[in-house]
Amino acid sequence: MARYDSILETIGRTPLVRLDTFASPGVNLYAKVEAFNPMGSVKDRMALAIIEQAERSGELRPGQTVIEATSGNTGIGLAMVCARKGYPLVVTMAESFSVERRKLLRYLGARVVLTPASEKGTGMLAKAIELAETHGYFLCRQFENEANAEVHSRTTAREILDDFRGEVLDCWVSGFGTGGTLKGVARALKQADPATRVVVAEPDNARLLGSGLVQLRHAGGVPASHPSFRPHLMQGWSPDFISRLTEEALAAGLVDELVPVAGSEALRLARELARREGIFVGISSGATLAAALDVARRSPPGSNIVCMLPDTGERYLSTPLFEGIGEQMNDEELALSRSTPGYRFDTVPAATRQPQAERGERVELDAEAERCVDGIVAAEPVVMFALEWCEFCWSVRKLFARLGIEYRSLDLDSVAYQADDLGGRIRAVLAERTGARTIPQIFIGGEHVGGCSELFDAWRDGRLRARLEACSIDYRGDVDLDPYDLLPGWLHPRTATA
Ligand code: PMP
Repeated sequence: MARYDSILETIGRTPLVRLDTFASPGVNLYAKVEAFNPMGSVKDRMALAIIEQAERSGELRPGQTVIEATSGNTGIGLAMVCARKGYPLVVTMAESFSVERRKLLRYLGARVVLTPASEKGTGMLAKAIELAETHGYFLCRQFENEANAEVHSRTTAREILDDFRGEVLDCWVSGFGTGGTLKGVARALKQADPATRVVVAEPDNARLLGSGLVQLRHAGGVPASHPSFRPHLMQGWSPDFISRLTEEALAAGLVDELVPVAGSEALRLARELARREGIFVGISSGATLAAALDVARRSPPGSNIVCMLPDTGERYLSTPLFEGIGEQMNDEELALSRSTPGYRFDTVPAATRQPQAERGERVELDAEAERCVDGIVAAEPVVMFALEWCEFCWSVRKLFARLGIEYRSLDLDSVAYQADDLGGRIRAVLAERTGARTIPQIFIGGEHVGGCSELFDAWRDGRLRARLEACSIDYRGDVDLDPYDLLPGWLHPRTATA
């Protein structure tokens, strides 16, 4: 354990983990788990390195906007670095990359400019160049920036060498996107021991390197789309061009072997890593493991093999990696639910205690709470008695927002209403006045409309419009929506018990 001055100091020093359940007998297979980086991918290393190199060279000025074309992980790493260092960030990204990536970037404060999927990686790169030139942004150029390779020689490779001190590393396996990992790590490993084999994996349906076809470039060095490129599953691997850093790694003779990997194998092995080893990583990790297992099968006992696992699996919830992972209970889970009597969806819950009034008992209403309810209902055109964080209340708030209806909300469980249990006393008054025991309860023009469902039904059948118009309350008449869609899935009456 250590103390750090900023999150940026926690980048790198990722663990090498033995994959005992996968390796061929006698072969030592290790994975370098880059998901341990603060933003969950290998690209955190490069993001910090490129920004700090540009700060040192003066290319990046304080407060200047940073821009990059990225399939996501670079952008997410850059967003962390830029947040901590105070640079605005713009990311260009093809629309085909997972929505988690876009949302994470925006969450971290970056702006995301999407480019058409049909324009592929070359399109998002060209857009980044266009925006950088027009607005004077600092363009990271991860595909050719030597700082991207240098950080991997200085950190990733150094860590692997330190972890194998006194032992021979026979083989290192990686894919390539920018080629930064490939060039940087391979160079340092070969320098330490020229006998270490470097194996490079690529999608079997997009063999840019395997094709042997050289990369063509337009004026200014902008790469042309490579003829061997086909859409593939391994986000972050093989864009539709061979980057400068990758070309340099090949030209320097750093690559000993190319291994094609099928998308289905990448998915299978990413899932197996989760279920057999408890290692939760993305699709390119499964793909790299596929190539490493291919090497392991051909390796003599005692061999030491390291493969890169570039990122976390959390970035793939909306992708084919999670295909078949349901939200609702499956048959087996339903059977398990039904194997004991309680807490089931197919039986009626045990009767709850009857309210006092319904049991015929006299209810003492509090005078202050009565004045509060009557006063606000008389004074305000639209009133909601609510709970601060209740999903039904939030859905009503969303409906009012969509319809542009101004309203007054009394949050009965908020700190202000907890004093002397005023909120609880108001609830008792509401229950008495309306006969309804649930929250929210909505009043329009002094009249009780009902709770969430009654309000939603009133919008569906036109009664809400009529009431708003009768009370001269402004609302957006052109909105077309089913308010029930505003409820979270598990509260949706059509699916709640499914
Ligand atoms: N896998 C994933 C998930 C990535 O995001 C990347 C980076 N594009 C890579 C692999 C390849 O790394 P590099 O860019 O260093 O070649």
